[in-house]
Amino acid sequence: MGADELIRMFGGRVHDRLVLDAIRSVPRQRFVPASLAQQAWENHPLPIGQGQTISQPLIVALMTEALQVGPGDRVLEIGTGSGYQAAVLAQCGVEVFTIEVRPELADGARRVLEELGYAGIHYRVGNGRAGWPEQAPFDGIIATAAGDDVPSAWLAQLRPAADQQAGGRLVLPVESDGGQELQLIRNTPEGLHRSSLGGVRFVPLVD
Ligand code: SAH
Repeated sequence: MGADELIRMFGGRVHDRLVLDAIRSVPRQRFVPASLAQQAWENHPLPIGQGQTISQPLIVALMTEALQVGPGDRVLEIGTGSGYQAAVLAQCGVEVFTIEVRPELADGARRVLEELGYAGIHYRVGNGRAGWPEQAPFDGIIATAAGDDVPSAWLAQLRPAADQQAGGRLVLPVESDGGQELQLIRNTPEGLHRSSLGGVRFVPLVD
């Protein structure tokens, strides 16, 4: 798929070259069940087993762009799932720390990511609400399951803003008014800055 085709597919909503190139390079069909490989690029979530889903390409692209990452950044991901989002981040040159609560999904994702040769991905099985304190601070934290609140551990593990360096970014879906909202929270010298990236539909964050 060419870059222009991808930009069209995303309705002009994603422009970051690093993100677009990463999405072009990662073989998405490897992260969905073989029976759904033909549908891998369609604009809707697909089941990945255990009642969980892989987000559609546009949502992965929007969330990755919102993280504002560059090569060498350290990113915590909550909800490894199929491993696709982790692959896109790794392809951006990011060091990824990914946590998955369901062991079967964690095992499957790790197998595919290792087969494809992605280095710089660290895996943990468990509840991601506590984050990964031993590896903090993070330049970015991305959650791919929606909770009712923003876990305080994630805010605490965002890199503080320093003189010449931007603070950490947190991208996550949050339950609100019976729907879900994708939020971007940035750590700035003036404190946390929160903005909305629109309505989304994610599986629930396990407590
Ligand atoms: N990023 C994934 C999306 C997977 S769906 C991908 O690219 O495929 C969200 C995942 O979050 C599911 O696999 C679910 O098991 C996991 N999850 C839900 N609550 C969690 C929690 N508290 N800690 C870690 N993982 C969790």
